Amino acid sequence: MQAQPEAAVILVADDDPFIRHMLTCYLKQEGYQVVEAPNGEAALDLYRDHLPDLVLLDALMPVIDGFEVCRRLQAANQSDLAPILMITGLEDEKSVDQAFEIGVADYITKPIHWAVLRQRVRRLIAQHRLERRLREANHQLQQLTLIDSLTQVANRRRFDEYLLQEWGRGGRDRRPLSVIICDIDYFKGYNDHYGHPAGDRCLQQVAKALSQGINCTDDLVTRYGGEEFAVVLPNTSLAGAAAVSDRLVQAVRALGLPHAAAPHATVTISCGVASVVPQLSYLPSDLVVTADQALYQAKAQGRNQAKATRMVLPPPGRSLTTWV
Ligand code: GH3
Ligand code: MG
Ligand code: MG
Repeated sequence: MQAQPEAAVILVADDDPFIRHMLTCYLKQEGYQVVEAPNGEAALDLYRDHLPDLVLLDALMPVIDGFEVCRRLQAANQSDLAPILMITGLEDEKSVDQAFEIGVADYITKPIHWAVLRQRVRRLIAQHRLERRLREANHQLQQLTLIDSLTQVANRRRFDEYLLQEWGRGGRDRRPLSVIICDIDYFKGYNDHYGHPAGDRCLQQVAKALSQGINCTDDLVTRYGGEEFAVVLPNTSLAGAAAVSDRLVQAVRALGLPHAAAPHATVTISCGVASVVPQLSYLPSDLVVTADQALYQAKAQGRNQAKATRMVLPPPGRSLTTWV
């Protein structure tokens, strides 16, 4: 039978050329693509190059035996290792136990019972493909829980997660971490004047402008809540974050969205910026509180602008969040 382009790839590792040849011919006849390895080292290299759907592995091979190949494959491919079907003349209980203990998916003995081999190969490949699809679907679902459905930027949950992650990293590397809180000006008036659905569209456009206004791939734009967005900027100083926030204010103003109920007659945002080299004596939420205070100043000084504040350290052992 001719191998199909999407046919499963099987890596056959056996030091006995006759058995390898028999296996290869049989599996090709069944419609699989086959890659042959004459020893354990070649099996490891060929696995890396071909990422097969199944490995048929001889237990006893010189230099690196099948058990060691299995261990090394697992160490190098933790999340998505193809199933390993061990084929061997070993029938003693110890070898069988050892094979399963190190994680082979199944085990058959020589002389090969071809009908049994065929069924096991089919089952293991089908199972592996199903597991991979499930893992991918799970990953997509997981991603969805981190996205804001209205604006398609990251949501509050992702903000909390990312801020905490980067707080830890910044503390370890002694690098500054910055946060910008952006709040749409007179947005209640916008809703009152244009209606809630128009308000939703406005939020979408502002989110898009903010996302496009970010250059660094590590910077994350999130919807913090309501008409507020928060940007996390790892490894960014206060001056750097202030420059980004000025750009964001400008980007939203440049959208030119009419706002009849605002003094500038255009949709604008105000931003508060804060930055810190994370330390144990205070919390990620302190950074947010500080950015919020800066935002309050930007609002008080006429909106449509960004204000940056250096974080004031709390007394030793007290967090800003509880101190202010
Ligand atoms: P300021 O310039 O001080 O920020 O005033 P503001 O009117 O923007 O602030 P305020 O907090 O008074 O109002 C926020 C408004 O944002 C009120 C709320 O209805 C609106 N809002 C929050 N979430 C959404 C949403 O998902 N869709 C729409 N359309 N409006 C929202
Ligand atoms: Mg607000
Ligand atoms: Mg507002």
